[in-house]
Amino acid sequence: MMRLPWFGFRSPATIDEAAKIIAGEGPQAMLIAGGTDLLPNMKRRHQTPKTLVSLGRIESLKKIANGSGATLGAGLTLNEIVANPIVREKYAGLYQAAAQVATVHLRNMGTLGGNLCLDTRCNYYNQNYEWRKAIDFCLKKDGEICWVATASKRCVATSSTDCAPALIALGASVRLVSAQGEREVALPDLYRNDGIDYLARRPDEILTEVRLPPAEGWRSSYWKLRRRGAFDFPVLGVAAAVKTARDGTVEEARIALGAVSSRPLLTQGGGLLVGRTLSDAAIAEVAKKVASVAKPMDNTDLDLYWRKDVVPEFVGYALREIRGDDMTATRLRIARHAL
Ligand SMILES: Cc1cc2nc3c(=O)[nH]c(=O)nc-3n(C[C@H](O)[C@H](O)[C@H](O)COP(=O)(O)OP(=O)(O)OC[C@H]3O[C@@H](n4cnc5c(N)ncnc54)[C@H](O)[C@@H]3O)c2cc1C
Ligand code: SF4
Repeated sequence: MMRLPWFGFRSPATIDEAAKIIAGEGPQAMLIAGGTDLLPNMKRRHQTPKTLVSLGRIESLKKIANGSGATLGAGLTLNEIVANPIVREKYAGLYQAAAQVATVHLRNMGTLGGNLCLDTRCNYYNQNYEWRKAIDFCLKKDGEICWVATASKRCVATSSTDCAPALIALGASVRLVSAQGEREVALPDLYRNDGIDYLARRPDEILTEVRLPPAEGWRSSYWKLRRRGAFDFPVLGVAAAVKTARDGTVEEARIALGAVSSRPLLTQGGGLLVGRTLSDAAIAEVAKKVASVAKPMDNTDLDLYWRKDVVPEFVGYALREIRGDDMTATRLRIARHAL
């Protein structure tokens, strides 16, 4: 049985208090929300914080505000996101992404903020301490080599959050609060293409809320590839959001990819749709272009080359669903992994 290392525990009731504690404790402390990522990681000794600062008691992190856009508290659980009618009706891509994270039990604990700050993943890293010691560790923790790309000086662990690509396609930004003040960051800028230093968030900053722009005229969709339809991290995530005029001409569009890099990728694909209708030809052309930037590494589940090959298919599924095609049968086929 893997045991947690010893740690101190603080449980503030307000964002201000949490920000002061995390600033005072310094980089030896970490924030914990649902703990569904951090606690298993601590058991494997990936992270061994001296103090955990829990966000669980902070009620203001659990608010949802619906104005011209929407503001979602970072402390909302993924099941609360899934159950919310605003998310369901206006931001379908986020609903679909959150509904496909892990299992219903994990979604009862796991939060939106924790999902966006999820550690990057790799087959050589998500192992217990003894396993990693046996291969002499790796760059990401305790070692000096990357076992995936042995000549690389950079860790290429994979960004595995489902909600980040969906929210990037929706044009979201996040609010980061610290004892020094606060700032708003466009979601793509929260991430770095570095498997170790994967967030542009400082350790003393708390992600307090996600801000979504108005959804009028937009439709969105999220498609996920994984081995088991009910319970696995993404090995590919495709998120798309498209705003169309009454005649069906695309006015704005964003297409983002997950699990093909150390960061969620906002691609150029959306721009290529502007001024066109979502015809089969336009979808096929854009899907091919989007797939060309996907660089999956051989460090997650399923065959590397096959994962790259199916990117255009998944982009096509997302765009056809936005067009209004009935994709139920395709979703079921993928959930049963009969591609
Ligand atoms: C078996 C299993 C399967 C999973 N499958 C998936 C999956 O399919 N898709 C997926 O996306 N995830 C998956 N997860 C990961 C995880 O359950 C979710 O990503 C969840 O949303 C994480 O949220 P949390 O609140 O539990 O985060 P925590 O574990 O509490 O925190 C995760 C990280 O975020 C930081 N953090 C948390 N909240 C904040 C905040 N407000 N501000 C700043 N930093 C913060 C923590 O310090 C920590 O570094 C899986 C986990 C398990 C164990
Ligand atoms: S990509 Fe390389 S350095 Fe990063 S976790 Fe995997 S083996 Fe380690």
